[in-house]
Amino acid sequence: MTNWREKAAAALRQWNGPLTNDLVLTPGQFGLGQVPARLQPDDTTTVVCGYCSTGCGLNVHLREGRAINITADSNYPVNLGMACPKGWEALTPLAAPDRATTPYLRNSRGELEPVDWERAMVLFCERFKAIQQEHGPESVAWLGTGQICTEELALLGALGKFGMGMIHGDGNTRQCMATAVSAYKESFGFDAPPFTYADFEESDVIILFGSNLCIAHPILWQRILRNRNCPEIIAVDPRKTETAMASTQHFAIRPKSDLTLLYGLANLLIAGGSMDHEYIAAHTNEFDRFAKFASHFTTDRVAAETGLSQDDLWRFAQTIARGKRVSFWWTMGVNQGHEATRTAQAIINLALLTGNMGRPGTGANSITGQCNAMGSRLFSNTTNLIGGHDLGNPQHRAKVAGILGMEEQRIPTQPSLAYDQIIDGIASGKIRGLWVIATNSAHSWIHQTEIRELFAKLDFLVVQDMYHNTDTAQLADLVLPAAGWGEKEGTFINSERRIGLLKRVSKAPGQALSDFNIFKLVAQYWGCGALFEKWSSPEAAFQILKEFSRGQPCDITGIADYAALDACGGIQWPWTDSTTTPLPERRLLEDGRYYHPDGRARFVFEEPRPMAEIPDEAFPFLLLTGRGSSAQWHTQTRTGKSDVLRKLAPAHVYVEMHPDDARHLGVEPASLVTVTSRRGALDALAFVTATVQPGQVFIPMHYVSTNRLTFPSFDHYSRQPSYKACAVSIHPAGKTPTRPRVS
Ligand code: SF4
Repeated sequence: MTNWREKAAAALRQWNGPLTNDLVLTPGQFGLGQVPARLQPDDTTTVVCGYCSTGCGLNVHLREGRAINITADSNYPVNLGMACPKGWEALTPLAAPDRATTPYLRNSRGELEPVDWERAMVLFCERFKAIQQEHGPESVAWLGTGQICTEELALLGALGKFGMGMIHGDGNTRQCMATAVSAYKESFGFDAPPFTYADFEESDVIILFGSNLCIAHPILWQRILRNRNCPEIIAVDPRKTETAMASTQHFAIRPKSDLTLLYGLANLLIAGGSMDHEYIAAHTNEFDRFAKFASHFTTDRVAAETGLSQDDLWRFAQTIARGKRVSFWWTMGVNQGHEATRTAQAIINLALLTGNMGRPGTGANSITGQCNAMGSRLFSNTTNLIGGHDLGNPQHRAKVAGILGMEEQRIPTQPSLAYDQIIDGIASGKIRGLWVIATNSAHSWIHQTEIRELFAKLDFLVVQDMYHNTDTAQLADLVLPAAGWGEKEGTFINSERRIGLLKRVSKAPGQALSDFNIFKLVAQYWGCGALFEKWSSPEAAFQILKEFSRGQPCDITGIADYAALDACGGIQWPWTDSTTTPLPERRLLEDGRYYHPDGRARFVFEEPRPMAEIPDEAFPFLLLTGRGSSAQWHTQTRTGKSDVLRKLAPAHVYVEMHPDDARHLGVEPASLVTVTSRRGALDALAFVTATVQPGQVFIPMHYVSTNRLTFPSFDHYSRQPSYKACAVSIHPAGKTPTRPRVS
């Protein structure tokens, strides 16, 4: 046995601790001398939520070492005592009977059977190394997640690229936040969402683009309701969403006409003299070129392309012009579009030209999706070099290599493929081994049928997850059992850049290990454990992350340790070691200085492009997808385990369709209809409602069949999938389709 294998086996014995299914903890069992060791068996402690990017603080109540209940923390600066149903039920998925409690290996009969960690790790390394030896380092890739801790993401990224020699790794944050990253980097010079949640309470005009905040980020909607300025709330959304119904103005544009609308609004504001000349001159570049470009977006053109009236356009522009503190917010309705980056930048342009930046209640503000999307953006070492650095910058490469104490040659010069390009790589045979961590690609990826077929083609597929039976785990050759939220420690970074603390308040079942310890184990078995010796615990890794951040816009060198995060209710970046005033809420860009070398923001713009798949005679409806319930999270892998949460959302997949369309097709409310696209079909219950416009239908993303329909098109710059628009047909289930109405 080699020395590294002995070391790995010893590490495994240490990390596993007592391998029982007993979830009852004693203080000693919290282990590893980390934060939980400070907990007492009957403590109440605050933990940041592990679902959405709001990043609420949840009180976990322990009794005799067992986590028995959750309440919302009224002192946490994010949620102020509120939580959505997912947060209240956060403990339930941990006790689900289908937790992966041991590694599982697919046997010769095609079944997953339990194996021990030793066998799993030996096989993991042998198979991936054999693939790399035969097909080169590019042939093995990973797909990560915004659902694991920043320290884990960073360790995975460093291990994958610097230890295992991989070139390609990406995460499911590509599906939600890649657009915001591309837009901010090009416009601001760094991926820097500038806001703090208090801005919701300070604005006099709040504009929500493609954001159903009431459902997707319900606590942030509550923050708007605390606004004492009686703000105008404008929802821009093709659907009459819950948020649109609660807003003061709703502009139901044609799907994917938002870029045209934004340029048209810019034109009206410029023509009406509502620019902030001083701000534009002092802090931006390219305004004159932008103004000339925007002048082509006349009200005639914009009204024709968006479906809004000219009066609507004037009213919208005047509301912005009259606002003293206008904040512009966007989320997946923008990010998941075929020209998403330019759309996000068109929102940024409006904020820049009206000078609504850097002051309370203003900003061009992207709301993130997952609990740790921001951690992934800065530290996952996938498309950026770890710590928000550039792969191609020699100084950045030297800095990263120096902090890790390794040769710079270990840092690949080649950029990683994006998620969709990794999938294409599987199709072409370039990628032959894949490691999927805490994401359920076989449900969530656009055009799901294709990805399932491609995963079956892989020489070796490893899935690391809390559950052994996710849609993706069912396709795996090897499943590695992972601890979940509350069973490990680390940090998440929320939408407003707040670094919050996750603590271990429950013991992972069986032999499940934290993702951090699985990565450490892989490093040992791979033979590169020495490179990561300093990463002895999540908190030790946090100290390394601080060094990566030094001198960057996301500098967190002033945060002493986890105890400091705990004491402050999380801390927003930046927090440098020269930060002297500990403020509970901070926004960026108050000095008007952006992150490009000249300190100025850029107006970025481009002519709109047509959608990739437009309805036609055979597929006459446009399918919109999105979040359907605040009680379910993404693919329901965790939230589906809760009886309470299941009862709060419809169990059967449903499709919203307009009453006129239902009448024409002979569809009765609540009857079964078949929805078909060029890629697949599903049966759904008809929800006949005027929330959608005629010719459009909506299906929530939580149902496993939804992505049988979606069309794989991608934003050119961010490579983010365009989930929000594809062509479908509908007919009553079991009947021959009738000829569609042509309007
Ligand atoms: Fe808060 Fe989001 Fe968790 Fe709900 S899911 S409690 S809104 S962080």
